[in-house]
Amino acid sequence: MKPIEKAIKTHALTKGEIITLLNIQDASLLYEAADRVRRESVGDGVHLRGLIEISTVCKQNCLYCGLRRDNKKIFRSRMTPKEIINHAQAAAKAGYMTIVLQGGEEDGFGADKMAGVIKGIKRLGLAVTLSLGEKSFEEYSLYRQAGADRYLLRIETTDKTLYEKLDPGMSFENRLRCLKDLGRLGYEVGSGFMVGLPGQSVDSIADDILFLKALPAHMAGIGPFIANPDTPLANCGKDNFDLSLKAMAVIRLLMPNINIPATTAMETLRPDGRFTALKSGANVIMPNVGGDMSEYYRLYPGKAKAGEVKEYRAELEKKLKAIGRFIDEGPGISKAYIAEDKK
Ligand code: SAM
Ligand code: SF4
Repeated sequence: MKPIEKAIKTHALTKGEIITLLNIQDASLLYEAADRVRRESVGDGVHLRGLIEISTVCKQNCLYCGLRRDNKKIFRSRMTPKEIINHAQAAAKAGYMTIVLQGGEEDGFGADKMAGVIKGIKRLGLAVTLSLGEKSFEEYSLYRQAGADRYLLRIETTDKTLYEKLDPGMSFENRLRCLKDLGRLGYEVGSGFMVGLPGQSVDSIADDILFLKALPAHMAGIGPFIANPDTPLANCGKDNFDLSLKAMAVIRLLMPNINIPATTAMETLRPDGRFTALKSGANVIMPNVGGDMSEYYRLYPGKAKAGEVKEYRAELEKKLKAIGRFIDEGPGISKAYIAEDKK
């Protein structure tokens, strides 16, 4: 059986078969298959997550990222708890059901204050997703008790040597420990990786895909690596869009009922990158609802913008209708998470 047919029927592939799919020149059949599996498994609804980038301060020094602590060209700023809640409130009014709080890895808020912010957003009736990097079990636990529903922590790459080279001072084991702790605490766990990192092979991307399946991730964010001129990887730029899209489509075939976002990095590389992703297996969009902070939150150049909260949602609604999709008004819990809970 050919890999695409096999994946549609069994949702399982060998590493060799994944590599074959990642290497195909014309991937249109792969994208069509991923779109079909997406429709049959999670439906035509698109979940919106309102993204608030809460801080550009980071204690880590990841070579690829504009927020790395050695980048002197970035404006460092941290929202106050009140500002965060105000943005969440405006997003709730515009119809958002989930807020994602993302930021550099730092301790400036203080864990108790952050727990207070989570409680404040929960009081608005919203689901809360955190993406704040590596923390201790106790801190993850505190946030879970405060009401946090989901946590996004990409593995970035499963090549341990490459990971520790690109993320100096960080350990691959601790990254794994964090993902395990999040699972143990009952979070809906989102992970993922970048595609096209310098030194990353297609073989290694196949390992990344198998890793997400084994974890198992309830959500998988796949983003092309985009070179940032203010980082040590300034000159490593190439267009990683197609390979990212193929990796994302393969993940949909192997993990039919997870949530998969059409990532901002995809939209940054192609004018309609988010929609291309939605037609190739994705079912989530994370528009920015955090106001001006997005200007300073420069992970890579040319980051796609969302515009005003209400207007963007209305525009999105129209564009989704045109491709036979609609905004799902529910909280958007991953079906993979629900299925696990019922076991
Ligand atoms: N600090 C937290 C962390 O590292 O998990 C959350 C924020 S971090 C900026 C979110 C994600 O941005 C990272 O997981 C990484 O995959 C992505 N990212 C950073 N630099 C990037 C780049 N140059 N191109 C594409 N994605 C990038
Ligand atoms: Fe900090 Fe996250 Fe960027 Fe690494 S990827 S420098 S931890 S914000």
